Amino acid sequence: MSGVLAGSSNTLGRVGIYDCHVHSAVSADSEMPPQDAIARAQALGVGLCFTEHVDFECSSDKCFAADISQYLTDYEQYRSDTVLLGAEVGLTYNSRAASRKAVSDDRLDFIIGSVHIVRDYDLFMPEFYEQDLPWEDIYRQYFAFTIKVIEHCEYFDSLGHIDYISRYSRFDIKNVEYNTFRKEYDKIFEMLIDRGKVLELNTRRLGDPSAAKCLYSVYEGYYNRGGRYVTVGSDAHSTEVIGANFDIAADIAKRIGLNICYFKNRRLRV
Ligand SMILES: [Zn+2]
Ligand SMILES: [Zn+2]
Repeated sequence: MSGVLAGSSNTLGRVGIYDCHVHSAVSADSEMPPQDAIARAQALGVGLCFTEHVDFECSSDKCFAADISQYLTDYEQYRSDTVLLGAEVGLTYNSRAASRKAVSDDRLDFIIGSVHIVRDYDLFMPEFYEQDLPWEDIYRQYFAFTIKVIEHCEYFDSLGHIDYISRYSRFDIKNVEYNTFRKEYDKIFEMLIDRGKVLELNTRRLGDPSAAKCLYSVYEGYYNRGGRYVTVGSDAHSTEVIGANFDIAADIAKRIGLNICYFKNRRLRV
């Protein structure tokens, strides 16, 4: 892979993966100085793409819509072959025009599209899971909304953390199994492939063996529908998370036959 960092001797360096999901102090929920993130990625032998939040709908009092133009200007000094500048845009229906405009800056290397909000429910908050419905129907609401926003939001390259709901679910059953929701997963995969987009393999939950097993089936399903590329991202908000579980992600991708890619100038690279 072309992402190998010269001189690196550790396993990740030989794999040459880019961590394509990293937040720094530009994002409202991170205080990580960009220099610290870059130093950590270099020490690990991984590339790095900053993906700062652009969310126009969220339940927090903080502003999660970074000023992308200002961020790109400020961070231009850090850009290199192994340090790229991207964004993570919240996929919403009502604010899609503002989101599209916010990520239209052609200096962006890469855009993750992520579902953080389903209709008016912030998935981080308990209310979504307290609706008077069976747990399967609540998970199906998440999928239905994801399908709707993929249909209407064309301005992203990789669909972020498909298992995001499992992070915050208040149900005993947190893993969203491929076999239980196959129809919904397959629809999402077909839409992404039809639109030339890829799927992120988010490493946040891969340290949990039951989550890794569930996600293996999900990404195998993606492969079986024709998916061939994944970006890999830690969703780091602090230095110790950068590159976390990348050995597990690389193993999953290899066993399934998926190619780990990254984006530069909005173009897929491997
Ligand atoms: Zn996210
Ligand atoms: Zn993120």
